[in-house]
Amino acid sequence: MDASRDEDSPYRAVADRSSCLDRIFLLMLLAGLLAGCASRPTAGAVTPTTFVQPQPSATAAPSPSPRRPTTTFPVVPSVAPPTPVPSATPTVDVCPVLPADPLRPRYRFDVTADPATHRLRIWQAVTVADPARLEMAEVVFNVPANGVAGVFALEAVHLAIAPAQAVGTGPLRPTAVMLDGATLRVRLPSVAMRPAALTVCLDYTVRLPPAGHEGISAMHALGWSELGMVAGYWYPVLAPYVPAAAGGTGRWLITPYHPVGDPIVYETADYEITIRAPAPYQVIAAGLMRAEAGVWHFRLARARGFAFVVSDRLVASQADVLGIPVRVYHLAEHGRAGQSALRSVQEALPLFAEAYGPYPYTELLIVEAAQFGGMEYSALMTFSRDWFAAYQPPATDADFGADLLVRFVVHELGHQWWYGAVGNDQAHEPWLDEALARYGEVLYYETLHPTHLAWWEAPSAGMATQPINQPIYRFSDTTSYVQAVYVSGTRFWLDVRRLLGRPAFAVFLQEYRERYQDQIVSEAAILALLRERLGPASAALWSTYFR
Ligand SMILES: [Zn+2]
Repeated sequence: MDASRDEDSPYRAVADRSSCLDRIFLLMLLAGLLAGCASRPTAGAVTPTTFVQPQPSATAAPSPSPRRPTTTFPVVPSVAPPTPVPSATPTVDVCPVLPADPLRPRYRFDVTADPATHRLRIWQAVTVADPARLEMAEVVFNVPANGVAGVFALEAVHLAIAPAQAVGTGPLRPTAVMLDGATLRVRLPSVAMRPAALTVCLDYTVRLPPAGHEGISAMHALGWSELGMVAGYWYPVLAPYVPAAAGGTGRWLITPYHPVGDPIVYETADYEITIRAPAPYQVIAAGLMRAEAGVWHFRLARARGFAFVVSDRLVASQADVLGIPVRVYHLAEHGRAGQSALRSVQEALPLFAEAYGPYPYTELLIVEAAQFGGMEYSALMTFSRDWFAAYQPPATDADFGADLLVRFVVHELGHQWWYGAVGNDQAHEPWLDEALARYGEVLYYETLHPTHLAWWEAPSAGMATQPINQPIYRFSDTTSYVQAVYVSGTRFWLDVRRLLGRPAFAVFLQEYRERYQDQIVSEAAILALLRERLGPASAALWSTYFR
């Protein structure tokens, strides 16, 4: 039964029809409430290993200059001993050292999208220039796309360093390449002198799975449907490296795949992406520089995750919010929902900019997709087409807001600060971004639509408070994950606000964002900050919200 078609809003549907209560409640708990960032277990997740002989890249690599020594290596199963380095002679320079800031890595991609076969053929280069990683014996990537069998196929790995003389006369070769589940390790050879920069180049294919409507998982950030191809978790993400503290040891932030939550962590990086797609498809992504003859070029600086959508179905509605161009890509028949998404941003973005600090990017894209819930990336957010399809304009203008699409646009918009501006380990400390993104929902409704606060709170009102400092790996179902990380996490921040008082809490959020802008904040750091502000009053909070 489609109650939304003859009711003015989901709220009224809940109030008037008990049969719809379960539907709406379930929808809010399992799809959206947990919005975007949550997921439920899916069967069949495996941790395949791959062994593929090196072969030439099918995509044209950018022409690097100057020429760097490169070589190609087989990918070996993690259970195998390190493979002897083959005596390959590089014939083409497919691995340039990119100009990288020591503070953040630089990615370059050349992607060929084939909507007919749902495949992405990808060449990826990532250059690091930070001293801590350059001293390591390996470079580690988190590859969520390899969390499910049959999606990710690594074909070749190349290395390059600058200055080239550092390697002497021979090419630089990894001593081993190991892909074990969602963890890719590239072992580096020792070099005569410490390089100023290191590039790891990867050739691989991503075969998108069908986008699913049943439940949500991180793999739904990667899928195809009649709306097009959604590439969310599509590339190997350089694992952040935490240098050793005095007397300690450094560590890679490794996020094994898990079907609940977001099994990923992004450091701030600079992106340069070329994507080829056949006519009449368009490529939707943030940072468009130019598009010509089916070749789309993007640049996105100081970003976390880069996502794109390839579609021949979506049309755009757009608006300008505080000088930020905002575009909503939706099916032509969902124009009113697209307008409501725009209005949500028009209302929430100024509110968040005042509460948290400047919006961290120069544009914002919202894309309708065949998925469950919503999902955040830097300057781009995707939302379930079910929410677009179910959208009903309110009876009066004053009733605007009591709608799942509106609510979760607000939620994912909050992630542009809590995930985008301030990063965190979303796998091991997911409450850091999720609880504040959901706090943004409270801020939105209590400030702009207070009559809808009860509607907003209804699905979670009866949930008991749970410890919030739990990694995604502790949860096997989305409901308990949401109860702890989202619902209890929001209650934690509301208690902090009550103890500090609203003015001091507002100052705290601004300072928190400023201090950790472009960084990966840790739970230990934020709790130390809170102890400092709250003093003895914090004791009760710790026992209630932390295990
Ligand atoms: Zn979220």
